[in-house]
Amino acid sequence: MEVYNYMEELVYRYIDEVLKKYNNVCKCEKCRLDMTAYALNNLPPQYTVTEKGKLFTKVKEMESQYGVDIIREVTKAIEVVSEEPRHETH
Ligand SMILES: [Zn+2]
Repeated sequence: MEVYNYMEELVYRYIDEVLKKYNNVCKCEKCRLDMTAYALNNLPPQYTVTEKGKLFTKVKEMESQYGVDIIREVTKAIEVVSEEPRHETH
């Protein structure tokens, strides 16, 4: 058993989905983590105690409840982070 924030799992999924639509945005690990953090700060955490195998059903439920909000915040996060990326330039 563990305490788990479902919102994290959902944001990870949506970041990758939404990023597919952006061609000119940096997708390095640092930028993706910054986007994830930005979106999570603007979404309500959804903590629960669960057994690992049972995550999937709950994630589906949450997706229909929060999907629209998550896409909005993830899109905003991509725009904010890509405007001022904090990765190291090489
Ligand atoms: Zn980057």
